[in-house]
This record gives sequence, structure tokens and C-alpha cells, in this order.
Amino acid sequence: MTYVVTENCIKCKYTDCVEVCPVDCFYEGDNMLVIHPDECIDCGVCEPECPADAIKPDTEPGLEKWLGVNAEYAKSWPNITQKKDSPADAKEHDGEDGKFEKYFSSKPGAGD
Ligand code: SF4
Ligand code: SF4
Repeated sequence: MTYVVTENCIKCKYTDCVEVCPVDCFYEGDNMLVIHPDECIDCGVCEPECPADAIKPDTEPGLEKWLGVNAEYAKSWPNITQKKDSPADAKEHDGEDGKFEKYFSSKPGAGD
């Protein structure tokens, strides 16, 4: 089992989650983060820290697509362990539908 970052992180990217992860398994893309499924120890402490409610346990149904996104991009995006400022328009995009189709970017973020 692992926890996964899902759609509502896109363009919100508050990064509160990275500070609490005991094994530093978050990786930064251009406009979202992902969790490395082989590094996550399933502690669950990041889930309630996410203001966008974007982190879910993979035991929830319907997360296959997001498991794939997390597993694929955790291999190439840089590690992030420290909180940074969220995008200025993060609030406007919180809860928006269809974010993956509209905004997903496979480009890496800056990392720490
Ligand atoms: S706290 Fe939530 S919205 Fe922010 S980066 Fe982490 S998963 Fe994404
Ligand atoms: S569940 Fe624990 S180990 Fe996994 S990403 Fe969240 S804080 Fe890190």
C-alpha cells in the first residue's frame, strides 16, 4: 500500500505535506507533487496536512490513474522536503474540475 497525490494538487501545490513526511518521499513537478510508492511507509501523517485534500490512501477505489502518475513521475522529478510558497492563484484552482486534462505538466519542478 502507499499514499498517492491526486488531481486537486495540480496548480494548488501547497507543499504542507512534505514537511511531515518521515521518509522524504515527495517529488516535485512543475505544478503538482507526487509520492514515490516504493518509499512511502504508509504512515498517513501527510493526508490531513493537505489543505486541498489531495492525498489519498491507495485502498480507496478509483485511484489507478493516480497511482500510475505518482509511480511514473517520482522516478524523474526532484525530491522536495521543505515547504515553499504555493502559486499565487492556488485558491482559485482549489476544487476545480478537469485539472488533469487542462493543466497537467510532465515537466519537473525545482525541488529543494
Ligand atoms: S499539501 Fe496537498 S496540495 Fe499541497 S503539495 Fe501536498 S498534496 Fe499537493
Ligand atoms: S503516508 Fe507517510 S511516508 Fe507516505 S508520503 Fe505520507 S507522510 Fe510520507
